[in-house]
Amino acid sequence: MADHDPRPFNCPDCAAAPGELHEDGCDQAHCPDTGRQRLVCDHDGACTSRWSGDFVGAAECRECDWWLVEDPELGLIPCPAGTKDAIEDFNRLFTHARWDAELQRYVRTDLTTT
Ligand SMILES: [Zn+2]
Ligand SMILES: [Zn+2]
Repeated sequence: MADHDPRPFNCPDCAAAPGELHEDGCDQAHCPDTGRQRLVCDHDGACTSRWSGDFVGAAECRECDWWLVEDPELGLIPCPAGTKDAIEDFNRLFTHARWDAELQRYVRTDLTTT
């Protein structure tokens, strides 16, 4: 996943426009209950979700300054915001945040580390 323009764009899998429902089987669709991929949740595709115009969690990563950059020797390493070619560190959504089904976004839980 490369760095991308934060302006809204269509779903890269099912091409839903921002605000539209994902199609069945879309691998970018998230489960509204868990925030995880809808393809792996327990609802057999019965949960519907809308494409927001950005990857789920991307805005939260940007707000928290969770970034990664590819280091030729070390692989992906954390880096400050504004680093050239940085990408959002989605993994930290699972370790430093929880999904809030009411807000339909991740909420940071660990405020002590970066
Ligand atoms: Zn989609
Ligand atoms: Zn679900």
